[in-house]
Amino acid sequence: MERHVLSTRADPLTHGLWEASAPPAPEAPPLQAPRSVDVAIVGAGYTGLSAALHLAEGGASALVLEAMDIGFGGSGRNVGLVNAGLWVMPAALPERLGPVHGPRLLERLGEGPSVVFGLIDRHGIPCEAVRQGTLHCAVGASGFRGLGERARQWQALGAPVELLDASAAARLTGTTAYSGALLDRRAGTLQPLAYARGLARAAQAAGATLHAHSPLAAVRDEGTHWRLTTAQGATVDARWVLVATNAYSAPAGPWPGLDEELVRFPYFNLATRPLSERERATILPQRQGAWDTALVLSSFRLDAAGRLVFGSVGALRGAGRAIHRDWGRRALARLFPSLRGIHFDHEWYGHIGMTRDALPRLHRLARNTWSFSGYNGRGIAPGTVFGREFARLVLGQCSEADMALPVTPVQAVPLRAAREAGYEWGARAVHLLHGH
Ligand SMILES: Cc1cc2nc3c(=O)[nH]c(=O)nc-3n(C[C@H](O)[C@H](O)[C@H](O)COP(=O)(O)OP(=O)(O)OC[C@H]3O[C@@H](n4cnc5c(N)ncnc54)[C@H](O)[C@@H]3O)c2cc1C
Repeated sequence: MERHVLSTRADPLTHGLWEASAPPAPEAPPLQAPRSVDVAIVGAGYTGLSAALHLAEGGASALVLEAMDIGFGGSGRNVGLVNAGLWVMPAALPERLGPVHGPRLLERLGEGPSVVFGLIDRHGIPCEAVRQGTLHCAVGASGFRGLGERARQWQALGAPVELLDASAAARLTGTTAYSGALLDRRAGTLQPLAYARGLARAAQAAGATLHAHSPLAAVRDEGTHWRLTTAQGATVDARWVLVATNAYSAPAGPWPGLDEELVRFPYFNLATRPLSERERATILPQRQGAWDTALVLSSFRLDAAGRLVFGSVGALRGAGRAIHRDWGRRALARLFPSLRGIHFDHEWYGHIGMTRDALPRLHRLARNTWSFSGYNGRGIAPGTVFGREFARLVLGQCSEADMALPVTPVQAVPLRAAREAGYEWGARAVHLLHGH
């Protein structure tokens, strides 16, 4: 199975609507002349860009190497749901991470959307930010029970979440398909690629240097610093390194374990024409972003122009493209009968990096060399928060003991290729057979 979607940005199946509607990327010419900096960052997604911004603001020299374009990975392809917390239940975090890291991670990621929307405000990032909350929609009685428990756990922590019954959920979504929903008022939506490009601009304005089309090929220990060499042979010397390549890490890169610890979960999005005023009066009238509790989940949200962005599990390649698109038409007609027959103007997909326990990872790969990865489809707020946390570590504002995540060794996932094939082919089978 093809493991990486390394086509160029011009491929409409990689960044779709987001490429068509984002402000242009800032200039980031390939690295040519040798450089020496405090911190070299590999990967220009939210994690790397947030780190670059906060490092530069803190007075450190930071240089980002990006193999393709800014926001080429998950950061330019996602649904744009800026969520608080993780997929796992809040109460599970102290159980799994212990009494120090569990509550700390909950608190930092609970505040994640405020960090994201705060940066957007502070730097005036034009990225269609809407902070109206998100709706986790319940499928059937068991979905509703699960959300009830999630609501209870968040409320016990003082989070502003609200469990809605079926009729309240229908009013906010515009469909009667759901048995209820969890409204999280901390959350919201944004245009993902525009946010990535905005972070990049803000980082540059603060003094960071960004180089696109500069894939890191090799790293050498020079004793006092690391020497990073790009595929074109350009070099950067740095005392610190952040590896922020996450689900788009190359199999044969300098740290191959990073590729082997994530299972890639394919997810696609389809976008309609801008809905009419009348359609928008009933479909997501308050502009929350939504997704559901189904095993093969779906998500839906509006962009600033009123296009409905509808997504689910699957890769738009081979026969999958037609299968998922046809399913999308049927599923949308079932959710919103007034949209029956609507055309999708954009379709694109990407890969989410999943870990075995659905928790993100922090690794110390070597001296002063760190990586964050495995956001399990929750990366906008975590990537931003973890990038800032790494900057604080380098700037001496916190120590390893203060980090939100415990430092763990890199561990390969067994049967990874089979699991990835299972997601891709399973999603095809489900979408071939079902309307929803
Ligand atoms: C389809 C989809 C839907 C999603 N929906 C949501 C959502 O609604 N909400 C949410 O919060 N999260 C969502 N996510 C997850 C989120 O997008 C990711 O967790 C997040 O973008 C990860 O950011 P990152 O900076 O860690 O990595 P990425 O954005 O993946 O960036 C990694 C970068 O590293 C670069 N790179 C790789 N190798 C090298 C190299 N050798 N040299 C230099 N650069 C290299 C890549 O080109 C890439 O640009 C979704 C993801 C996908 C794919």
